[in-house]
Amino acid sequence: MKLPPFEYAAPATLDEAIALLAASGGTAKALSGGQSLMPVLAFRLASPSLLVDLRKIPGLDRIDIDAQGVKIGARVRWRDILDDARLRTAFPLLPAAISHTAHYQIRNRGTVGGSLAHADPAAEMPGIAVACDAQLVIAGSTGRRTVAAADFFTGALSTVLADDELIVEVRFPAWPTARRWAFEEFAMRRGDFALAGIAAWYDLDSGGRATNTHIGVIGACTRPQRLAKAEAALNGKAVDAAAILSAAKAATESLDPPGDLHASAAYRRSLAGTLLERALQRASS
Ligand SMILES: Cc1cc2nc3c(=O)[nH]c(=O)nc-3n(C[C@H](O)[C@H](O)[C@H](O)COP(=O)(O)OP(=O)(O)OC[C@H]3O[C@@H](n4cnc5c(N)ncnc54)[C@H](O)[C@@H]3O)c2cc1C
Repeated sequence: MKLPPFEYAAPATLDEAIALLAASGGTAKALSGGQSLMPVLAFRLASPSLLVDLRKIPGLDRIDIDAQGVKIGARVRWRDILDDARLRTAFPLLPAAISHTAHYQIRNRGTVGGSLAHADPAAEMPGIAVACDAQLVIAGSTGRRTVAAADFFTGALSTVLADDELIVEVRFPAWPTARRWAFEEFAMRRGDFALAGIAAWYDLDSGGRATNTHIGVIGACTRPQRLAKAEAALNGKAVDAAAILSAAKAATESLDPPGDLHASAAYRRSLAGTLLERALQRASS
């Protein structure tokens, strides 16, 4: 289907992009990789008056790693994350999850900022951001603000972003090398959106028990979220078969996923529990 008509601008600075968004009174949209926006336009789910292309804005495509953690610019593409060898040690959960994101061609264009703003509950990056206590740096007409990923997503395809705001970068706290972690997801075909996915990680205390457990779910939810009851079931325990089963049971009981033509709610719930079992088995082995 042909796209609806729109004006196009490719500003050279972030301030200019924000000014264009603000001047449109909510009728303009940012364009990053276009891998979600173009289908949205083609299906006439949106008809913006103006597309503000972010590709000429300098500095949004950086990945910076230091003792505080990892900062990933909004225009960093999936391909950049997979190609950055530093991330495999500095934040191994991220490339592991992004290796499931979409298909080769889409990974060459799709970006971190676009995915976070699009807020698909089955997308990997929003799920990892919530599971890992990431912070989003957002710029708008009135300045910059930092929002915890857990507070950023308000529902399926919905966030706290205002019409004149852009995501600038996402910040992940430092990742200890001894951390135990795993990412598991199931999709109908490789590269499809996940029917369910689980990111799980924990640290070990001096007695070899799990502490600081974080368990995040995608797909089996209306927005990416942590599973507090499953985390509580693991914290303070040795991660053995019994603890893993009790965390998986807690996860299954606390989920209330939507059903659709791809999978029923009951299937997604059960799948998330199974994926958590697998993730914890892998993390603890
Ligand atoms: C066939 C197919 C399969 C896919 N499979 C997966 C998958 O398995 N997992 C997955 O996670 N994704 C998947 N995707 C989506 C893909 O990862 C997209 O690249 C991503 O969701 C959006 O990124 P983008 O850069 O293309 O954003 P765009 O399409 O350019 O923009 C998406 C939305 O974000 C807004 N936006 C863009 N950048 C910013 C910014 N910096 N600040 C504020 N708003 C912004 C736009 O206005 C728009 O509303 C798939 C897409 C397709 C077409």
